[in-house]
Amino acid sequence: MIFEPVVGLEIHAELQTQTKMFCGCRRVDTTQAAPNSAVCPVCLGYPGTLPVVNKRAIELALRVALALGCDVLPESVFARKNYFYPDLPKGYQISQYETPLASGGALRIVTPAGSRVVRLRRVHLEEDTGKLTHADGQPPASLVDFNRAGVPLLEIVSEPDLFSVEEVKAYTTAMRRLLRYLEVNSGDMEKGVIRFEANVSIRPAGSRELGTRVEIKNLNSFRSLVRAIDYEVLRQSERLARGQRVIQETLGWDETRGETTSQRSKEEAHDYRYFPEPDLPPLRIEADELARVRAALPELPDARRERLMSQYQLGAAEAEVIVEDRATADFFEASAHARPALAPRRLAAWLTSDLFGTLNALGRPLVDTHGQPALAPADFADLVERVVTGGITGPSGKAVLEEMLRGGRMPEAIVRERGLERIGDDAALREIVQRVVRENAAQADQVRAGKISVVQWLVGQVMKASRGRADPRLVQTLLEEYLSSGRDG
Ligand SMILES: [Zn+2]
Repeated sequence: MIFEPVVGLEIHAELQTQTKMFCGCRRVDTTQAAPNSAVCPVCLGYPGTLPVVNKRAIELALRVALALGCDVLPESVFARKNYFYPDLPKGYQISQYETPLASGGALRIVTPAGSRVVRLRRVHLEEDTGKLTHADGQPPASLVDFNRAGVPLLEIVSEPDLFSVEEVKAYTTAMRRLLRYLEVNSGDMEKGVIRFEANVSIRPAGSRELGTRVEIKNLNSFRSLVRAIDYEVLRQSERLARGQRVIQETLGWDETRGETTSQRSKEEAHDYRYFPEPDLPPLRIEADELARVRAALPELPDARRERLMSQYQLGAAEAEVIVEDRATADFFEASAHARPALAPRRLAAWLTSDLFGTLNALGRPLVDTHGQPALAPADFADLVERVVTGGITGPSGKAVLEEMLRGGRMPEAIVRERGLERIGDDAALREIVQRVVRENAAQADQVRAGKISVVQWLVGQVMKASRGRADPRLVQTLLEEYLSSGRDG
Protein backbone atom coordinates (compact mmCIF):
# COMPACT_ATOMS: atom_id res chain seq x y z
CA MET A 1 0.00 0.00 0.00
CA ILE A 2 1.27 3.49 -0.76
CA PHE A 3 0.99 5.96 2.11
CA GLU A 4 0.96 9.73 1.89
CA PRO A 5 2.19 11.96 4.72
CA VAL A 6 -0.10 14.56 6.27
CA VAL A 7 1.80 17.32 8.07
CA GLY A 8 0.69 20.29 10.12
CA LEU A 9 3.36 22.74 11.22
CA GLU A 10 3.79 25.06 14.15
CA ILE A 11 6.32 27.77 13.43
CA HIS A 12 7.76 29.64 16.41
CA ALA A 13 9.29 32.91 15.30
CA GLU A 14 11.05 35.36 17.60
CA LEU A 15 9.82 38.91 17.11
CA GLN A 16 12.55 41.50 16.50
CA THR A 17 11.65 43.85 19.31
CA GLN A 18 14.14 45.88 21.35
CA THR A 19 12.87 44.41 24.61
CA LYS A 20 11.19 41.27 25.93
CA MET A 21 7.46 40.45 25.82
CA PHE A 22 6.50 41.41 29.39
CA CYS A 23 9.50 43.28 30.85
CA GLY A 24 12.06 45.93 29.89
CA CYS A 25 15.01 43.51 29.45
CA ARG A 26 16.89 43.85 26.18
CA ARG A 27 16.36 41.10 23.61
CA VAL A 28 19.94 39.89 23.00
CA ASP A 29 21.63 37.52 20.58
CA THR A 30 21.54 34.41 22.75
CA THR A 31 24.45 32.84 20.86
CA GLN A 32 26.71 35.83 21.71
CA ALA A 33 25.62 37.49 24.96
CA ALA A 34 27.01 36.37 28.32
CA PRO A 35 24.55 33.92 29.93
CA ASN A 36 21.94 35.53 32.22
CA SER A 37 23.08 39.06 31.33
CA ALA A 38 19.64 40.19 30.12
CA VAL A 39 17.35 39.19 32.96
CA CYS A 40 15.23 40.91 35.62
CA PRO A 41 12.83 39.92 38.40
CA VAL A 42 9.89 39.82 35.94
CA CYS A 43 11.37 37.35 33.42
CA LEU A 44 12.95 35.35 36.26
CA GLY A 45 9.50 34.93 37.79
CA TYR A 46 10.16 36.54 41.17
CA PRO A 47 7.08 36.67 43.40
CA GLY A 48 5.24 39.97 43.37
CA THR A 49 6.37 41.11 39.92
CA LEU A 50 3.84 42.05 37.26
CA PRO A 51 4.02 41.64 33.46
CA VAL A 52 3.44 44.56 31.09
CA VAL A 53 2.66 43.83 27.42
CA ASN A 54 5.23 44.98 24.82
CA LYS A 55 3.27 47.16 22.39
CA ARG A 56 5.81 46.77 19.62
CA ALA A 57 5.47 42.96 19.78
CA ILE A 58 1.72 43.32 19.24
CA GLU A 59 2.31 45.55 16.22
CA LEU A 60 4.80 43.10 14.65
CA ALA A 61 2.42 40.20 15.28
CA LEU A 62 -0.42 42.14 13.63
CA ARG A 63 1.76 42.71 10.56
CA VAL A 64 2.15 38.96 10.16
CA ALA A 65 -1.52 38.22 10.81
CA LEU A 66 -2.64 40.79 8.23
CA ALA A 67 -0.08 39.71 5.63
CA LEU A 68 -1.34 36.13 5.98
CA GLY A 69 -4.95 37.23 5.59
CA CYS A 70 -5.96 36.09 9.09
CA ASP A 71 -9.01 37.38 10.96
CA VAL A 72 -7.67 39.49 13.81
CA LEU A 73 -9.86 39.00 16.86
CA PRO A 74 -11.00 42.28 18.43
CA GLU A 75 -10.15 40.82 21.83
CA SER A 76 -7.67 38.09 22.65
CA VAL A 77 -6.71 36.68 26.02
CA PHE A 78 -3.34 35.78 27.50
CA ALA A 79 -3.39 32.53 29.44
CA ARG A 80 -1.04 30.67 31.74
CA LYS A 81 0.18 27.35 30.41
CA ASN A 82 1.37 25.55 33.52
CA TYR A 83 4.15 22.99 33.43
CA PHE A 84 7.41 22.37 35.19
CA TYR A 85 10.70 22.48 33.36
CA PRO A 86 14.05 23.92 34.50
CA ASP A 87 14.15 26.44 31.62
CA LEU A 88 10.83 27.95 32.73
CA PRO A 89 11.48 30.07 35.83
CA LYS A 90 7.83 30.97 36.51
CA GLY A 91 6.52 27.43 36.27
CA TYR A 92 4.13 28.62 33.55
CA GLN A 93 4.40 30.22 30.16
CA ILE A 94 2.20 33.15 29.19
CA SER A 95 0.61 32.21 25.88
CA GLN A 96 -2.70 32.66 24.12
CA TYR A 97 -5.02 29.71 24.19
CA GLU A 98 -8.79 29.87 23.74
CA THR A 99 -8.79 33.26 22.04
CA PRO A 100 -5.64 33.81 19.99
CA LEU A 101 -4.61 37.09 18.36
CA ALA A 102 -5.84 35.91 14.96
CA SER A 103 -7.38 32.88 13.28
CA GLY A 104 -7.62 31.52 9.72
CA GLY A 105 -5.47 32.89 6.95
CA ALA A 106 -3.39 31.16 4.28
CA LEU A 107 0.03 31.08 2.63
CA ARG A 108 0.63 30.36 -1.05
CA ILE A 109 3.39 27.85 -1.80
CA VAL A 110 5.14 26.96 -5.05
CA THR A 111 6.53 23.46 -5.67
CA PRO A 112 7.65 21.78 -8.90
CA ALA A 113 4.10 20.35 -9.00
CA GLY A 114 2.58 23.86 -9.11
CA SER A 115 1.23 26.53 -6.82
CA ARG A 116 -1.40 26.13 -4.11
CA VAL A 117 -2.61 27.59 -0.87
CA VAL A 118 -1.90 26.17 2.61
CA ARG A 119 -4.61 27.00 5.15
CA LEU A 120 -3.68 28.35 8.54
CA ARG A 121 -5.43 27.72 11.83
CA ARG A 122 -4.23 30.49 14.11
CA VAL A 123 -1.53 33.01 14.94
CA HIS A 124 -0.86 33.78 18.58
CA LEU A 125 1.63 35.48 20.88
CA GLU A 126 3.61 33.89 23.67
CA GLU A 127 6.90 34.20 25.52
CA ASP A 128 9.97 32.07 24.92
CA THR A 129 11.59 29.84 27.53
CA GLY A 130 15.21 29.89 28.70
CA LYS A 131 17.83 27.63 27.23
CA LEU A 132 19.39 24.53 28.77
CA THR A 133 22.88 23.29 27.92
CA HIS A 134 23.75 19.80 29.05
CA ALA A 135 27.45 19.60 29.82
CA ASP A 136 29.29 16.31 30.05
CA GLY A 137 31.89 16.16 32.75
CA GLN A 138 32.30 14.99 36.31
CA PRO A 139 29.72 15.32 37.64
CA PRO A 140 27.55 15.95 34.55
CA ALA A 141 25.73 19.28 34.80
CA SER A 142 22.95 21.18 33.09
CA LEU A 143 23.41 24.92 32.66
CA VAL A 144 20.55 27.33 32.23
CA ASP A 145 20.57 30.69 30.45
CA PHE A 146 17.49 32.89 30.96
CA ASN A 147 18.43 35.53 28.37
CA ARG A 148 15.83 34.00 26.06
CA ALA A 149 13.16 33.65 28.77
CA GLY A 150 10.38 36.10 28.06
CA VAL A 151 11.42 36.96 24.48
CA PRO A 152 8.30 37.54 22.35
CA LEU A 153 7.42 34.58 20.15
CA LEU A 154 4.84 34.36 17.44
CA GLU A 155 3.34 30.94 16.89
CA ILE A 156 1.88 30.31 13.46
CA VAL A 157 -0.12 27.10 13.26
CA SER A 158 -1.07 25.56 9.92
CA GLU A 159 -3.88 23.13 9.24
CA PRO A 160 -2.71 19.55 8.45
CA ASP A 161 -2.45 20.73 4.87
CA LEU A 162 1.02 19.68 3.72
CA PHE A 163 1.27 16.38 1.87
CA SER A 164 4.94 15.92 1.02
CA VAL A 165 8.38 16.92 2.19
CA GLU A 166 8.62 19.23 -0.86
CA GLU A 167 5.50 21.06 0.32
CA VAL A 168 6.91 21.35 3.84
CA LYS A 169 10.11 22.88 2.42
CA ALA A 170 8.16 25.28 0.19
CA TYR A 171 5.91 26.33 3.09
CA THR A 172 8.69 26.97 5.59
CA THR A 173 10.82 28.82 3.03
CA ALA A 174 7.90 31.01 1.98
CA MET A 175 7.04 31.75 5.62
CA ARG A 176 10.64 32.66 6.47
CA ARG A 177 10.75 34.97 3.44
CA LEU A 178 7.51 36.65 4.47
CA LEU A 179 8.71 37.20 8.05
CA ARG A 180 11.90 38.81 6.72
CA TYR A 181 9.96 41.02 4.30
CA LEU A 182 7.80 42.20 7.17
CA GLU A 183 10.96 42.92 9.20
CA VAL A 184 9.61 40.99 12.15
CA ASN A 185 12.29 38.26 12.15
CA SER A 186 15.86 38.07 10.81
CA GLY A 187 15.41 34.53 9.49
CA ASP A 188 18.76 33.61 11.03
CA MET A 189 18.21 29.90 11.55
CA GLU A 190 21.64 29.33 13.16
CA LYS A 191 20.64 31.72 15.92
CA GLY A 192 17.45 29.76 16.57
CA VAL A 193 15.09 32.66 15.79
CA ILE A 194 12.75 30.32 13.89
CA ARG A 195 11.92 26.85 15.23
CA PHE A 196 9.45 24.21 14.18
CA GLU A 197 7.17 21.57 15.60
CA ALA A 198 5.60 19.10 13.20
CA ASN A 199 2.45 17.01 13.53
CA VAL A 200 2.93 14.01 11.28
CA SER A 201 0.56 11.22 10.32
CA ILE A 202 0.20 9.01 7.28
CA ARG A 203 -2.78 7.63 5.40
CA PRO A 204 -3.34 5.46 2.33
CA ALA A 205 -2.75 7.67 -0.73
CA GLY A 206 -6.07 9.07 -1.93
CA SER A 207 -7.81 8.63 1.44
CA ARG A 208 -9.52 11.64 3.03
CA GLU A 209 -9.25 10.44 6.61
CA LEU A 210 -6.49 11.45 8.98
CA GLY A 211 -4.33 8.81 10.67
CA THR A 212 -3.00 8.94 14.24
CA ARG A 213 -0.52 11.76 14.53
CA VAL A 214 2.67 12.26 16.46
CA GLU A 215 4.10 15.61 17.44
CA ILE A 216 7.83 16.18 16.86
CA LYS A 217 9.23 18.95 19.08
CA ASN A 218 12.25 21.25 18.89
CA LEU A 219 13.22 21.13 15.25
CA ASN A 220 15.69 23.99 14.85
CA SER A 221 16.66 23.85 11.18
CA PHE A 222 15.11 23.13 7.78
CA ARG A 223 17.38 20.10 7.62
CA SER A 224 16.22 18.61 10.93
CA LEU A 225 12.60 19.30 10.02
CA VAL A 226 12.83 17.46 6.71
CA ARG A 227 14.89 14.58 8.09
CA ALA A 228 12.53 14.09 11.05
CA ILE A 229 9.45 14.02 8.81
CA ASP A 230 11.10 11.59 6.37
CA TYR A 231 12.06 9.38 9.29
CA GLU A 232 8.56 9.43 10.82
CA VAL A 233 6.80 8.69 7.53
CA LEU A 234 9.00 5.64 7.04
CA ARG A 235 8.64 4.48 10.65
CA GLN A 236 4.86 4.83 10.60
CA SER A 237 4.55 3.10 7.19
CA GLU A 238 6.57 0.16 8.50
CA ARG A 239 4.40 -0.12 11.60
CA LEU A 240 1.18 -0.09 9.59
CA ALA A 241 2.61 -2.57 7.08
CA ARG A 242 3.34 -4.95 9.99
CA GLY A 243 -0.23 -4.55 11.22
CA GLN A 244 0.79 -2.40 14.23
CA ARG A 245 -0.83 0.84 15.32
CA VAL A 246 0.79 4.28 15.39
CA ILE A 247 0.73 5.56 18.97
CA GLN A 248 -0.17 9.18 19.55
CA GLU A 249 2.80 10.67 21.36
CA THR A 250 5.25 13.55 21.61
CA LEU A 251 8.64 12.85 20.06
CA GLY A 252 12.03 14.48 20.17
CA TRP A 253 14.50 14.50 17.31
CA ASP A 254 18.02 13.14 17.76
CA GLU A 255 20.05 14.93 15.09
CA THR A 256 23.17 12.79 15.59
CA ARG A 257 21.42 9.43 15.40
CA GLY A 258 18.92 10.65 12.80
CA GLU A 259 15.85 9.28 14.58
CA THR A 260 12.86 10.39 16.60
CA THR A 261 12.72 9.42 20.25
CA SER A 262 9.66 9.05 22.43
CA GLN A 263 9.47 11.81 25.04
CA ARG A 264 6.12 11.22 26.65
CA SER A 265 2.66 10.11 25.73
CA LYS A 266 0.77 12.99 24.16
CA GLU A 267 -0.31 15.53 26.73
CA GLU A 268 -3.82 16.88 26.56
CA ALA A 269 -4.70 20.52 26.90
CA HIS A 270 -6.08 19.92 30.41
CA ASP A 271 -2.63 18.70 31.52
CA TYR A 272 -1.50 22.32 31.24
CA ARG A 273 -4.33 23.66 33.42
CA TYR A 274 -4.72 26.71 31.20
CA PHE A 275 -6.43 29.68 32.77
CA PRO A 276 -6.55 33.39 31.84
CA GLU A 277 -3.50 35.30 33.08
CA PRO A 278 -4.88 37.22 36.09
CA ASP A 279 -2.20 39.92 35.83
CA LEU A 280 -3.02 40.96 32.25
CA PRO A 281 -6.26 42.41 30.92
CA PRO A 282 -7.68 41.05 27.64
CA LEU A 283 -5.81 42.44 24.66
CA ARG A 284 -8.07 44.75 22.66
CA ILE A 285 -7.16 45.63 19.08
CA GLU A 286 -8.87 48.83 17.98
CA ALA A 287 -9.98 49.17 14.35
CA ASP A 288 -7.87 52.28 13.73
CA GLU A 289 -4.76 50.55 15.09
CA LEU A 290 -5.40 47.66 12.71
CA ALA A 291 -5.93 50.04 9.79
CA ARG A 292 -2.68 51.84 10.61
CA VAL A 293 -0.68 48.57 10.60
CA ARG A 294 -2.37 47.45 7.38
CA ALA A 295 -1.57 50.73 5.62
CA ALA A 296 2.11 50.42 6.57
CA LEU A 297 2.54 46.85 5.23
CA PRO A 298 5.29 46.63 2.60
CA GLU A 299 4.70 45.10 -0.81
CA LEU A 300 4.70 41.34 -0.17
CA PRO A 301 6.90 38.83 -2.04
CA ASP A 302 4.15 37.34 -4.25
CA ALA A 303 2.89 40.74 -5.35
CA ARG A 304 6.41 41.99 -5.92
CA ARG A 305 7.31 38.98 -8.08
CA GLU A 306 4.25 39.62 -10.28
CA ARG A 307 5.13 43.31 -10.56
CA LEU A 308 8.79 42.64 -11.45
CA MET A 309 7.61 40.28 -14.18
CA SER A 310 5.25 42.80 -15.74
CA GLN A 311 7.19 46.02 -15.11
CA TYR A 312 10.66 44.73 -16.12
CA GLN A 313 9.72 41.79 -18.35
CA LEU A 314 11.54 39.34 -16.10
CA GLY A 315 11.01 35.58 -16.38
CA ALA A 316 9.24 33.82 -13.50
CA ALA A 317 12.39 32.00 -12.38
CA GLU A 318 14.66 35.07 -12.21
CA ALA A 319 11.90 37.16 -10.59
CA GLU A 320 11.57 34.44 -7.94
CA VAL A 321 15.32 34.58 -7.20
CA ILE A 322 15.30 38.38 -6.98
CA VAL A 323 12.31 38.64 -4.63
CA GLU A 324 13.76 35.97 -2.33
CA ASP A 325 15.22 38.79 -0.35
CA ARG A 326 13.74 42.27 -0.01
CA ALA A 327 17.17 43.95 -0.09
CA THR A 328 18.06 42.15 -3.33
CA ALA A 329 14.81 43.24 -4.95
CA ASP A 330 15.43 46.83 -3.80
CA PHE A 331 18.96 46.69 -5.24
CA PHE A 332 17.66 45.38 -8.57
CA GLU A 333 15.03 48.10 -8.86
CA ALA A 334 17.48 50.84 -7.90
CA SER A 335 19.94 49.69 -10.58
CA ALA A 336 17.17 49.49 -13.19
CA HIS A 337 16.12 53.07 -12.36
CA ALA A 338 19.74 54.25 -12.63
CA ARG A 339 19.93 53.14 -16.30
CA PRO A 340 16.37 53.25 -17.71
CA ALA A 341 17.60 52.61 -21.27
CA LEU A 342 19.23 49.32 -20.31
CA ALA A 343 17.15 46.13 -20.72
CA PRO A 344 16.32 45.09 -17.12
CA ARG A 345 16.70 41.43 -18.05
CA ARG A 346 20.41 42.02 -18.66
CA LEU A 347 20.71 43.51 -15.18
CA ALA A 348 18.77 40.59 -13.71
CA ALA A 349 21.03 38.10 -15.48
CA TRP A 350 24.20 39.81 -14.24
CA LEU A 351 22.77 40.11 -10.76
CA THR A 352 21.71 36.49 -10.37
CA SER A 353 24.78 34.91 -11.97
CA ASP A 354 27.92 37.08 -11.98
CA LEU A 355 27.25 39.33 -9.01
CA PHE A 356 25.89 36.57 -6.75
CA GLY A 357 28.71 34.26 -7.91
CA THR A 358 31.45 36.78 -7.13
CA LEU A 359 29.92 37.71 -3.76
CA ASN A 360 29.68 34.02 -2.86
CA ALA A 361 33.33 33.52 -3.74
CA LEU A 362 34.25 36.51 -1.57
CA GLY A 363 31.93 35.29 1.21
CA ARG A 364 30.05 38.58 1.34
CA PRO A 365 26.34 39.46 1.29
CA LEU A 366 24.88 41.81 -1.33
CA VAL A 367 23.52 44.02 1.44
CA ASP A 368 24.97 43.87 4.96
CA THR A 369 23.01 43.93 8.22
CA HIS A 370 23.21 47.75 8.32
CA GLY A 371 21.52 47.94 4.91
CA GLN A 372 24.76 48.92 3.15
CA PRO A 373 25.08 47.36 -0.35
CA ALA A 374 28.42 45.81 -1.43
CA LEU A 375 28.43 48.20 -4.41
CA ALA A 376 26.26 51.12 -5.48
CA PRO A 377 23.30 50.04 -7.69
CA ALA A 378 24.16 52.85 -10.17
CA ASP A 379 27.77 51.60 -10.51
CA PHE A 380 26.52 48.06 -11.08
CA ALA A 381 24.15 49.30 -13.81
CA ASP A 382 27.01 51.32 -15.34
CA LEU A 383 29.14 48.18 -15.54
CA VAL A 384 26.40 46.06 -17.13
CA GLU A 385 25.70 48.83 -19.64
CA ARG A 386 29.38 48.89 -20.67
CA VAL A 387 29.20 45.16 -21.39
CA VAL A 388 25.84 45.32 -23.17
CA THR A 389 26.88 48.21 -25.41
CA GLY A 390 30.22 46.54 -26.18
CA GLY A 391 32.51 48.99 -24.40
CA ILE A 392 34.13 46.06 -22.59
CA THR A 393 33.81 42.31 -23.07
CA GLY A 394 31.96 39.92 -20.75
CA PRO A 395 35.19 38.49 -19.29
CA SER A 396 36.55 42.02 -18.67
CA GLY A 397 33.20 42.91 -17.08
CA LYS A 398 33.64 40.07 -14.59
CA ALA A 399 37.17 41.23 -13.75
CA VAL A 400 35.94 44.82 -13.25
CA LEU A 401 33.06 43.60 -11.07
CA GLU A 402 35.45 41.72 -8.82
CA GLU A 403 37.67 44.77 -8.47
CA MET A 404 34.66 46.98 -7.73
CA LEU A 405 33.71 44.63 -4.90
CA ARG A 406 37.24 44.42 -3.53
CA GLY A 407 38.21 48.07 -3.84
CA GLY A 408 34.90 49.93 -3.89
CA ARG A 409 35.86 51.90 -7.03
CA MET A 410 33.76 52.97 -10.02
CA PRO A 411 33.84 50.88 -13.21
CA GLU A 412 35.08 53.76 -15.38
CA ALA A 413 38.25 54.23 -13.34
CA ILE A 414 39.04 50.51 -13.34
CA VAL A 415 38.46 50.14 -17.10
CA ARG A 416 40.67 53.16 -17.86
CA GLU A 417 43.46 52.23 -15.48
CA ARG A 418 43.68 48.61 -16.61
CA GLY A 419 43.19 49.42 -20.31
CA LEU A 420 40.21 47.12 -20.59
CA GLU A 421 38.38 48.92 -23.44
CA ARG A 422 37.24 46.31 -25.89
CA ILE A 423 39.40 45.78 -29.01
CA GLY A 424 36.91 46.13 -31.83
CA ASP A 425 37.10 45.02 -35.48
CA ASP A 426 40.20 46.98 -36.17
CA ALA A 427 43.80 46.65 -37.20
CA ALA A 428 44.95 45.95 -33.66
CA LEU A 429 42.90 42.77 -33.40
CA ARG A 430 43.88 41.56 -36.88
CA GLU A 431 47.47 42.06 -35.92
CA ILE A 432 47.09 39.90 -32.82
CA VAL A 433 45.36 37.18 -34.88
CA GLN A 434 48.20 37.18 -37.42
CA ARG A 435 50.84 37.04 -34.73
CA VAL A 436 49.13 34.12 -32.93
CA VAL A 437 48.84 32.19 -36.21
CA ARG A 438 52.52 32.85 -36.96
CA GLU A 439 53.58 31.67 -33.54
CA ASN A 440 51.43 28.55 -33.73
CA ALA A 441 52.06 27.37 -37.27
CA ALA A 442 51.55 23.67 -36.45
CA GLN A 443 48.03 24.26 -35.08
CA ALA A 444 47.20 26.58 -37.98
CA ASP A 445 48.19 23.80 -40.40
CA GLN A 446 45.92 21.37 -38.58
CA VAL A 447 42.98 23.72 -39.09
CA ARG A 448 43.82 24.12 -42.75
CA ALA A 449 43.98 20.31 -43.00
CA GLY A 450 40.37 20.20 -41.79
CA LYS A 451 40.75 19.77 -38.00
CA ILE A 452 38.20 22.45 -37.21
CA SER A 453 38.17 21.83 -33.43
CA VAL A 454 41.65 23.35 -33.16
CA VAL A 455 40.15 26.76 -34.08
CA GLN A 456 38.80 27.04 -30.52
CA TRP A 457 42.29 26.54 -29.13
CA LEU A 458 43.59 29.35 -31.36
CA VAL A 459 40.68 31.57 -30.24
CA GLY A 460 41.83 30.94 -26.67
CA GLN A 461 45.38 32.01 -27.56
CA VAL A 462 44.12 35.24 -29.13
CA MET A 463 41.92 35.94 -26.09
CA LYS A 464 44.92 35.43 -23.86
CA ALA A 465 47.10 37.69 -26.03
CA SER A 466 44.40 40.41 -25.93
CA ARG A 467 43.99 40.03 -22.16
CA GLY A 468 40.30 39.24 -22.55
CA ARG A 469 39.56 42.51 -24.31
CA ALA A 470 38.45 40.94 -27.61
CA ASP A 471 35.00 39.59 -28.44
CA PRO A 472 35.55 35.80 -28.79
CA ARG A 473 33.02 35.47 -31.63
CA LEU A 474 34.73 38.22 -33.59
CA VAL A 475 38.10 36.57 -32.95
CA GLN A 476 36.80 33.29 -34.34
CA THR A 477 35.46 35.01 -37.48
CA LEU A 478 38.75 36.81 -38.07
CA LEU A 479 40.75 33.62 -37.49
CA GLU A 480 38.63 31.61 -39.94
CA GLU A 481 38.85 34.39 -42.52
CA TYR A 482 42.57 34.65 -42.15
CA LEU A 483 43.26 30.89 -42.25
CA SER A 484 41.06 30.34 -45.31
CA SER A 485 42.61 33.30 -47.16
CA GLY A 486 45.66 31.14 -47.93
CA ARG A 487 48.12 33.52 -46.38
CA ASP A 488 50.16 32.15 -43.54
CA GLY A 489 52.07 35.26 -42.63
ZN1 LIG B 1 13.27 40.79 32.24
